[in-house]
Amino acid sequence: MRRALEVARTTPPGDVPVGAVLYGPDGRELAVATNRREADGDPTAHAEVLAIRRGVDKHGDAWRLTGCTLVVTLEPCTMCAGALLGARVGELIFGAWEPKTGACGSLIDAVRAPGQLHRPQVRGGVLEGECAALLEGFFESLR
Ligand SMILES: [Zn+2]
Repeated sequence: MRRALEVARTTPPGDVPVGAVLYGPDGRELAVATNRREADGDPTAHAEVLAIRRGVDKHGDAWRLTGCTLVVTLEPCTMCAGALLGARVGELIFGAWEPKTGACGSLIDAVRAPGQLHRPQVRGGVLEGECAALLEGFFESLR
């Protein structure tokens, strides 16, 4: 999570600071990404989606990220939860909870829905204080 926080701090100005790091089954770093929605004018350019897209080539198992771990500073939204399920990410670790849009236990729980084909391991609230502080700092700077 320290690495994801470091990545989050490189988010383009104007974008909500979120950082994601994708690790292979052997712990090797496959990809990092920040949120770039404003910078790219792309509503799908969330850190998790970009890390999955960048990391999948390095993992070398077609579109699958079986056994990989995605670490992200903020609880994934429904789109990102869907992307990581679709990619068969083995484990999700996230920092701050996101009560408004979080799809991993806050608003809904898309990653642990019953009857799901793929169920990743999920751990939330890791370095929650630091992850939340980074976001709060950003939103305060907008006021
Ligand atoms: Zn998202």
